[in-house]
This record gives sequence, C-alpha cells and structure tokens, in this order.
Amino acid sequence: MMQTRKLTIACPQCGSRDISYSCSPSCCFNHVCAECYTTFEPATEATGKMVSGALPPQSLPEAADPTVACAKCDSTKVYMLTGDELACTDCGAALRLVLNEIAPG
Ligand SMILES: [Zn+2]
Ligand SMILES: [Zn+2]
Repeated sequence: MMQTRKLTIACPQCGSRDISYSCSPSCCFNHVCAECYTTFEPATEATGKMVSGALPPQSLPEAADPTVACAKCDSTKVYMLTGDELACTDCGAALRLVLNEIAPG
C-alpha cells in the first residue's frame, strides 16, 4: 500500500504553492496563483507505470484545492506519490503533471 498526499502545484511563474482552483471539473481546470495571479490549467500524462494499492490522502482536498484529471480514466482522484510523481487512486495509473495555458498575471 502506498499512502498519497494531497496534490500541490508550484506556480510556473513564481514557484509559490499557494494555488487555488476556482472552477469545477465539469467546466475547466483553470487555477490561479495567489502570489502573482498567473493562471494555468494543469493536466496529466500517463508515465506507463501502474501503482498498485495507492491510497487517497487521509484528509481529502477541499473544492478550492488544486485538482487535476487522470489522463487514463478522467477521475479527479489524482494525488501525489512523490515530489513529482502523481497517482490516480481510481485506476492506479502513475502520472506526471503538465501545465497548459499559462498566462502570467
Ligand atoms: Zn505565481
Ligand atoms: Zn485514473
């Protein structure tokens, strides 16, 4: 079993992890940095590896916490396994974070 941690994302402009998610997965994944107001949309790509028995974090994210969808199954139950490796706890795919639509604030 592998315990995951809540997803945090570093701002591509200033590196702050004070990032909030202002929309909902049915609309878009637009996130905003509280430090420099850069906006971006995180996504994932599958690394090809699978993670067996990845457990969701003990404290589940709130609505405004960073959220990203699994490249394999579209679930938003995507959490951090290590510093730069993510895992989907629905399908077990190991994922890597990619940031799109970066618009400096
Ligand atoms: Zn920033
Ligand atoms: Zn998945």
